[in-house]
Amino acid sequence: MNFFKSAAMAAALIFLGTPPAMADGRCHDDGRIYYAVIDAGHAGREYGATSWNGGHEYDYNQRFVRELTERLEKEQIPYILSGFHPDKNTLPDRTDKTGPHAVFLSFHHDSVSPIYCNLNASPCETDYAAGYSLFVSSRNPYYGPSSGIASEIAAELRREGFKNSVHHAENIPGEGRPMLDRNGVFQFDDLVVLRKSRGPAVLMEIGVIVNRRDEARISSRKVRSRYIDAVVRVLKRHIRLDNPGS
Ligand SMILES: [Zn+2]
Repeated sequence: MNFFKSAAMAAALIFLGTPPAMADGRCHDDGRIYYAVIDAGHAGREYGATSWNGGHEYDYNQRFVRELTERLEKEQIPYILSGFHPDKNTLPDRTDKTGPHAVFLSFHHDSVSPIYCNLNASPCETDYAAGYSLFVSSRNPYYGPSSGIASEIAAELRREGFKNSVHHAENIPGEGRPMLDRNGVFQFDDLVVLRKSRGPAVLMEIGVIVNRRDEARISSRKVRSRYIDAVVRVLKRHIRLDNPGS
């Protein structure tokens, strides 16, 4: 899929201007955020989770990010897309456009530990978990602001009537993430994109695509647009539009 090289990218760069941090090659960290770096998780050949009906997480992530960036352009909220490669999941490249003046948001769709897949279901299908989850890393230098932004997104998602999942907090191998906020914010220190981001960073699992009902819910454009409403409200609160570099 080539949409990252398309008009959306060109429009995004027009809105962005020059991040002030890059004007003289040095970063002056005044805590101000001027743009978002938007990341669609995974890549074509390394597509992430498989939905209950055989869909690729990559395609779900792309669809959500495409609709989110359309909205950002409409609202004139400055953003750039991450250093995403359409074929390869090159994790370090995803954060190469981050900095202290950007908030990095990575969008994914969730699955569960194989122990919760229904017996004989292939691909995995379960009713065990449903809902969104948000992650931050304490190894990110902006852990405090990251947690704050994640909590605000979670609160806005709750306001929209969405529920979070708690399965990532469960004490089983591969999970056990501390819950930082009862609205569904978890600490996940080793997630590479969160750890390597040079500014505040949040990873969002939008819903659980191995759950038939959750997958149907987030396959509705109307529902996705309410997720986007929630994210946009938080970005509007944090992104300053008086970028001196633009
Ligand atoms: Zn993912």
